[in-house]
Amino acid sequence: MDFQLTQDQADIQSAVADLCARFPEEYWQDKDAKEAYPEEFVSALQDAGWLSILIPEEYGGGGLGITEASLVLETINRSGGTAVSAHAQMYTMGTVLRHGSDEQKRRYLPKIASGELRLQAFGVTEPDAGTDTTRIRTSAVRRGDHYVVNGGKIFTSRFQHSDLMLLLVRTTPYEDVRKKTDGISTLLVDLRESRDSIGVRPIRTMQNHETNQIFFDDLVVPAENLIGEEGKGFRYILSGMNAERILVASEMLGDGFWFVAKASEYASERTVFGRPIGMNQGIQFPLAQAYAQLEAAAMLRWKAAAMFDRGLQPGFEANAAKLLASQSSWAAANAAMDTFGGYGVTVEYGIERKFREARLPLVAPVSNNLVLAYIGQNVLGMPKSY
Ligand SMILES: Cc1cc2nc3c(=O)[nH]c(=O)nc-3n(C[C@H](O)[C@H](O)[C@H](O)COP(=O)(O)OP(=O)(O)OC[C@H]3O[C@@H](n4cnc5c(N)ncnc54)[C@H](O)[C@@H]3O)c2cc1C
Repeated sequence: MDFQLTQDQADIQSAVADLCARFPEEYWQDKDAKEAYPEEFVSALQDAGWLSILIPEEYGGGGLGITEASLVLETINRSGGTAVSAHAQMYTMGTVLRHGSDEQKRRYLPKIASGELRLQAFGVTEPDAGTDTTRIRTSAVRRGDHYVVNGGKIFTSRFQHSDLMLLLVRTTPYEDVRKKTDGISTLLVDLRESRDSIGVRPIRTMQNHETNQIFFDDLVVPAENLIGEEGKGFRYILSGMNAERILVASEMLGDGFWFVAKASEYASERTVFGRPIGMNQGIQFPLAQAYAQLEAAAMLRWKAAAMFDRGLQPGFEANAAKLLASQSSWAAANAAMDTFGGYGVTVEYGIERKFREARLPLVAPVSNNLVLAYIGQNVLGMPKSY
């Protein structure tokens, strides 16, 4: 057990922090107000190689682990930025890397590593299926050397900023499979060739998070773009869940530490009744509590990341890290709001922007209810609710 970053990891942290310093609070506020995509920031991350660190060196990536990727994402949010705009380019390719053919890896990974291609859209959720992914109805019917896709997805984020989309479809209807997780397949859709067959309805949300409802009308996808075996897609998606949980937990931790740092500084300076408000335990203790919770969640995240990088399957650790990171970040958000009083709700101080952003992780990319169900059922052995 070693709780210190290595010199290389500390160097990554400071290099990412330096890059983020070029994108101050005003930059993020401007994007938020205009509901605009932070293209300059995402391009800068890509050009510096931070979005390709999980891609093996043989395909032009950094060849590093989930521990280093966590550090990158946490540092972005800890600096006041929003890694959600870019994180999918870092890890959606994992399905291609783990389950794609050699030909698919050679064709796509080097271009994803260089940023020539963006694989940032991941179509899983459907309006009528919700959390029960096995109930998706978007269908892909094989016709000779291609599939014809019909149906639709909801909450497909960053669609407009992607060249490629990973799409979960049913190749065998739910009613015709013995096991409900069978008959689901994963397709890599080249959006450069297929936007004409995809309708898009942007969905406005409480934060600047470009997400959409999309509709497929006889979308043609070459059969060579099937990832892995037909009917096994649900397993491929599950195999990427631990990595995703660890990485999104890292972003939430970054947010949480940002809230605590901002609020502690403000609490030490803001004087009311002739003394800094931070002297009052009603202000000081919630921040101290949130900080302790964040550190505890961060440790579980490091444990999950270390296990993942050693080839283990940290199902409990990754899920619990996501649960605790989202809760402690939300606790920090509320403590910061209270600390800033009326100024917390003004746009100028940035707290309200981050506060809006800190709410989503309690429900997405996976709802904490489902994380608790995973722990209750798969770790503690209690009966399933679904
Ligand atoms: C901004 C944003 C971006 C997103 N980006 C993407 C994306 O890029 N790609 C993508 O595929 N999806 C994306 N999602 C979808 C996201 O993953 C889902 O919203 C989330 O998984 C929950 O699904 P749902 O909204 O349909 O909730 P529902 O399934 O309708 O559930 C509603 C509530 O009921 C609870 N619930 C349901 N069943 C149970 C049970 N058995 N036990 C306990 N509680 C239960 C849920 O936990 C939840 O709290 C995004 C969502 C948002 C809001």
